Amino acid sequence: MQLFEKEPTPKGRGLIRRRFAITYARKYSCVSYLLIKGGNQMKKIIFIMILMLSFLPCSYAENKINILTTTSDLKSIAEFIGGDKVKVDSLAKGCQDPHFIEAKPSFMLKAKNADLFIRVGLELEIGYEELIIDGSRNSKIRIGKPGHLDASEGVNLLEVPTTTKVDRSMGDVHPMGNPHYWLDPLNAKIIASNITERLCEISPQNEGYFRQNLAEFNKKIDARMIMWQEKLKSFKGGKIAIYHRSWPYFANRFGLIVGCELEPKPGIPPSPGHLKEVVDTIKQQNIKVILMEVFYDEKPAQFVAEQTGAKLVIVPNSVGGTKEAQDYFSLIDTIVDKLVQGFRS
Ligand SMILES: [Zn+2]
Repeated sequence: MQLFEKEPTPKGRGLIRRRFAITYARKYSCVSYLLIKGGNQMKKIIFIMILMLSFLPCSYAENKINILTTTSDLKSIAEFIGGDKVKVDSLAKGCQDPHFIEAKPSFMLKAKNADLFIRVGLELEIGYEELIIDGSRNSKIRIGKPGHLDASEGVNLLEVPTTTKVDRSMGDVHPMGNPHYWLDPLNAKIIASNITERLCEISPQNEGYFRQNLAEFNKKIDARMIMWQEKLKSFKGGKIAIYHRSWPYFANRFGLIVGCELEPKPGIPPSPGHLKEVVDTIKQQNIKVILMEVFYDEKPAQFVAEQTGAKLVIVPNSVGGTKEAQDYFSLIDTIVDKLVQGFRS
């Protein structure tokens, strides 16, 4: 399978290397000093050194598979599986709402050089994916091509509409079902498996390496699952209020029940009338915790917390959402620990 269609032309490589050489010369003032003070021999040595340095990053990067993911969670998992054979970048940062990412020109440039584009799917990226892929003019990452992967393949999806008519009325951002499946650690194993299969297709010579990393990933998830379940064991069957419907997969896995949501529909900010209903529900159902992502407006949730006495727990829902959530494992660690603290306080 030919996935790497275009190598840079010799002229293009020359330009890139020259740019590196200039960057190094500017960056290291001591080099400039020596160039001025040194003799011809010194100048030659330094020039050769700069040239050597300029070659290193290019050849280093060229050998790797360039992966562009839409979210930081997919990036984290792709990095684990791909290891030193891949270079991964993410469009969304962990502190951003992944439903609403701006299709910046810089994202199109990133997509231009991607060998593999990985998305969450279920229309999570509907507002920006097409614009970025079209703008990149990179045909190998188009939907349906081997360079495009929908990570939701094989996931047991929740809240999929039962009618064939998709309803986007009032701005509902979950018209194809709930896309936040990465928050169930067992779904992370499915994502990891999907990424592994695709990397093996793209780079069959590294199949053994990718499969070994997948085995390690699964082992690590299984070990952590025991710990996460143990921590949340006492709160099994407990009800939580949530801001956005990011949490049903997580709640299902750990035996928690979602009692109500602050958003009247996914993607629609809470109205005063709806918040009043939420306050009543929390009181009636004796809900102790309101779980909210880091990027939403805290005011409505604080209002509900004050009115009900429920504890507002703000957590990242993606890797990088807070400084503790450095990778997929520490993301779930953070959510579990903060939730436990919330239930206990
Ligand atoms: Zn959502």
